[in-house]
This record gives sequence, structure tokens and C-alpha cells, in this order.
Amino acid sequence: MSAARRAGRRRSSPRPRRPLAPPQRLPAQYARLVRAATRALRRAYAPYSQFPVGAAVLAADGSIYAGCNVENASYGLTLCAERVAIHTAVANGRRRLVAIAVVGPAGITLTPCGACRQVMEEFGLQTVIIAGPRGAPAVVSLPALLPIPFTRRSARTRHAGL
Ligand SMILES: [Zn+2]
Repeated sequence: MSAARRAGRRRSSPRPRRPLAPPQRLPAQYARLVRAATRALRRAYAPYSQFPVGAAVLAADGSIYAGCNVENASYGLTLCAERVAIHTAVANGRRRLVAIAVVGPAGITLTPCGACRQVMEEFGLQTVIIAGPRGAPAVVSLPALLPIPFTRRSARTRHAGL
């Protein structure tokens, strides 16, 4: 599809597709993340939902790790793209993570599920870039998505009976 045709579709849209934050021009590093997540989406294993998702995480050292959703006939075993990307980064020795991009199917604003938000918190991710293959991505802070996370500190407080 041509850029002009895409632009025409955006102009004719009756309401914004991304209610979380206004679309913005991404820094180059985040644009790389979105591209990596888009490539990962094409590798999604989603025979049950037909809902492919890609994600890519940026580590503090600048390295990028991608993931896609991986479904299972036993639905509860399905893994989200975000967790696959984060766990791949950790398996490669990266525990300080900075940002993650999430890409859903065409035109869909896809926010991470609660489980993925908690896993993002564990590894210090602060920035979530939400994108579809079309249109400008939205950049959201993790504290906006998960304002009161479960942390090691809250676990200790709970054990202390406080
Ligand atoms: Zn998830």
C-alpha cells in the first residue's frame, strides 16, 4: 500500500485509534524496537487465536531481544510475546531492561496484559511502546499501566504482617 493511501485512510478515520497517548515521532532507538517487534510478529505461533503479537525489548546496554506469542492446545500454557522477549533477554544475561515495543495485528492498539506488566516491573522496564503495523506508535510509562506493582518490598511487608 502506498504512503499516500495509508495517509488517506488515517485522515478518513472518524476517531483516534490510540486513546492512551497521542502518536509521536519515535526516537531512532525506539523505532528500531518497533521494527524488531514487527519482524517477531510474523513468527508468532497463534493457531488458536489467529492473533499474532510481536514484542522487542531494549536492554540497558543497547541490545535488543524479540519475542512472539506462542500458543498451546492447552490454552493456559500460552505465552505472551512480551514475556517471551523479556525472558529471552534475561536468558541472554540482560537483566537491566529499558523499554519494550509491542505490535499487534493491523491497526489494533494492544496493551500488555497484567501478567506481562508485572514481569516488566521485575526487570525495571519503564517505557512501553504500543504499535500496530499501521500508524504512529504510542509511548506509555509502565507506572501509568501498573501504578501499584507487586514488588520484593511489598512481599516482605506482607510477610511481616504490616
Ligand atoms: Zn501478556
